[in-house]
Amino acid sequence: MTSDQQMHDQQSIEAQRSASSEAIFMANHHAHEADYIVKRWKAIAERLNATWTTLVPATLDAPEIGVFSLKGNPSRPSIYFSAGVHGDEPAGVLGLLDWADSQLNSWTLGDVVIFPLLNPWGLKNNRRVDEQGQDLNRMFDSTMHPLITAWKKFLDKRQFAVSVCLHEDYDARGCYCYEIYRSGKARFGRDGLDAACDVIPVEDSKEIEGREANRGLMDIDELPDLDEPGAPEAFPLYVNHAEVSLTFETPSEYSLYSRVRAHEKFLCHVVARLRGR
Ligand SMILES: [Zn+2]
Repeated sequence: MTSDQQMHDQQSIEAQRSASSEAIFMANHHAHEADYIVKRWKAIAERLNATWTTLVPATLDAPEIGVFSLKGNPSRPSIYFSAGVHGDEPAGVLGLLDWADSQLNSWTLGDVVIFPLLNPWGLKNNRRVDEQGQDLNRMFDSTMHPLITAWKKFLDKRQFAVSVCLHEDYDARGCYCYEIYRSGKARFGRDGLDAACDVIPVEDSKEIEGREANRGLMDIDELPDLDEPGAPEAFPLYVNHAEVSLTFETPSEYSLYSRVRAHEKFLCHVVARLRGR
């Protein structure tokens, strides 16, 4: 057998393995099972001796909204991750769950704060908005909304080396990332996109959501202007809590399996960079 033939056979074995992993995943996924997802997070918290704090109690139609927090080494960088603020964007929710389930054992970095499912009603009903029909990701300047008030209270005085909010976009054709950074501080967007594009290519449009993009990255060292009222989660994170505020997006028309893997890869990259600090 020639070495070309061996390589070809190896590639086709890899392709078959990956196809069967995808088939198993797609036959068993829990993309819109909000109760199952919250239960999994509580089990992870218990297993790791971490804390689960309820921010908004369960309703008849949706489970509670909670935050997972793990105490880390105070002299190492701390992280903030979140997902599921838009309920019709499940890949970030599943990617974050898989990441935590496999990566938080023997944790050596700083504190971990994770809001794993900010809009459980939306996830359950496959809706962008919450139960009141509001886009939560334009409510982070609210002083009245019970979830946002609890979110602010929980985060009071907490500082993170990085925050990552996970999203999806139905009309994107590749992954992309908003990065609100501070000059002289670590950056993650470009290399994070390179890591995710192992699974899904980066969006190559020169303009994304009305903003100039460079191979999927939209980076700026101050709060960008928004065309509509309200503040997304990434804004108060940048102003009050994080050295750099990232929003990572996958294209919703790709396979759910690939989208989940892309979110997981992006998070793995961010943490690998922090480990090297
Ligand atoms: Zn979104």
